[in-house]
Amino acid sequence: DAQVETKQFQAETRKVLDIVINSLYTERDIFVRELVSNAADALEKFRHQSLIDKIEFDAHVPLEITIDCDDKKHILTIADTGIGMTREELETNLGTIAHSGSKHFFEQLAEAAKKDVNLIGQFGVGFYSVFMAAKAVRVQTRSWDGGDGWEWASDGGGTYTLSPCPGLHRGTKIIIELKDDAHTYASKFTIERIIQQYSTFVPFPVKVEGKTVNTVQAIWTRSKSEITDEEYTEFYKFIGNAVDDPMYRLHFSADAPLAINALVYVPKENFEVLGMGRMQPGVNLYCQKVLIDQHSENILPEWLRFLKGVVDSEDLPLNISRQSLQDNALVLKLRKVLTKRVIKFLAEEAERDADKYREFWKTFGIFLKEGVTSDFEHRTELAKLLRFESSASEPGTMISLDEYVGRMREGQDKIYYINGPSRAAVEYGPYVEMFKKRGIEIFYTLEPIDDFVLNHLGEYNGKKLVSADRADLSLPETTPAASEEGAKESGEPLAEAVMTSLCRWMKEVLGDRIQEVKASSRLVDSPAMIVNVDGYMTSSMERILKASGQ
Ligand code: ADP
Ligand code: MG
Repeated sequence: DAQVETKQFQAETRKVLDIVINSLYTERDIFVRELVSNAADALEKFRHQSLIDKIEFDAHVPLEITIDCDDKKHILTIADTGIGMTREELETNLGTIAHSGSKHFFEQLAEAAKKDVNLIGQFGVGFYSVFMAAKAVRVQTRSWDGGDGWEWASDGGGTYTLSPCPGLHRGTKIIIELKDDAHTYASKFTIERIIQQYSTFVPFPVKVEGKTVNTVQAIWTRSKSEITDEEYTEFYKFIGNAVDDPMYRLHFSADAPLAINALVYVPKENFEVLGMGRMQPGVNLYCQKVLIDQHSENILPEWLRFLKGVVDSEDLPLNISRQSLQDNALVLKLRKVLTKRVIKFLAEEAERDADKYREFWKTFGIFLKEGVTSDFEHRTELAKLLRFESSASEPGTMISLDEYVGRMREGQDKIYYINGPSRAAVEYGPYVEMFKKRGIEIFYTLEPIDDFVLNHLGEYNGKKLVSADRADLSLPETTPAASEEGAKESGEPLAEAVMTSLCRWMKEVLGDRIQEVKASSRLVDSPAMIVNVDGYMTSSMERILKASGQ
């Protein structure tokens, strides 16, 4: 046929095709995602065009993506009614690697291929990824301006052909003849599954064999005022695979330092505590409504794994690989912005409705404590969110460090805490006697992990956090609290000589089990107490370490 022209691929393109075709793939599915997102891009471009130009040709063809599966002939066809391509556009878009960004990307791809061919499947390689599954591909396309239609065809070797293709409507149709080991992609079940996974939120109907597969809206891109509570809850159930209602939701967008649309939820239940094992992160990363990282470990710190939802940033390249997500500067920035925003949100919620926040704390406080011990960057901000019982709180009610600080006595420059198995055990123990007497508030840390948390934190608001079982503890002289006014001093102190011999005798009896026995002025009612000499590990921390065999 005289009208068929055969052309060479650009050298870089050939290299990419070579890698794509001659390697093994672990994630072949992504070629469907790439083609569907190209189709969605083309539809978006057409919509844009129709706003600035009067459309004369095929103006009323509906905007949609149509997928047909011929599982007898092993042919998959993906068609869109988008902007289409002219002959020149076909040549540059599908014959060369135009974007400078892609060149770098393809170099990385080649590197990865050298190291481990299995890595390649994790790269999104755009249009060319079709050759992971295709024996031969035909692209039939007609531009929105109604010019002639063209067909591009290639088997992924060194060349492609271009020929006229009359009779087309606006848009692009990609006809894929599947490789022998890729016949599954002509099954509508396979295609539906892939669309559900990666392309559910594509903003145009995706029809597989006539049935629209993507029925859930990407509500995170809409403005808050237009979304009902029911829609929010429904979306939560969808994205979180959940049956409960969410406890909190945070929907926000930002333009600087980078474009973000995020919709995240706090569930009602903590499934980790319910004995269902460690949770996977529940927030997915999207780029313009196309999934790029499901259950992303990169966009939020581990301690926020209880959140469910989506984060969308159009600043991210769609074809970013899993590996490069980890150290991508944009992703790191995204993570920082998101984490700060979530912490700020929780602080606002605590302010707005303290009781509800206490419920949250009971269920998810353990994750925030994990954050304090593991996330140095956010430790200080997180401290605001911590809650513990204290000598001044109602039993069962927890207070914040800010509340404590606001009530500190004159002359007090430290924040005190003492660990114990229960509030009653702590309150009747010897450690808090002097605190009561002097009217100094003290936190009751009733979970074994609490002392680690406060020890990691070290200080709050410039005030040292100190465990009351430290040997060198000296409490500030305060005027006694009103309730303590007139409380009787218990008994006469022992004479110094008697005290010294008593201490010596006790040390003889207890031997190596203790380091030293000392007279103390810290006790009010109890005759003796055990304190912690090195001041680093509290007794509760030591108990944990012993229990874990360290
Ligand atoms: P990217 O989408 O990142 O630009 P691709 O390799 O996926 O890279 O696609 C290359 C180019 O081919 C696109 O930028 C677009 O111009 C063109 N293209 C691909 N598919 C279509 C389509 N269905 N309709 C119109 N143009 C398309
Ligand atoms: Mg693309």
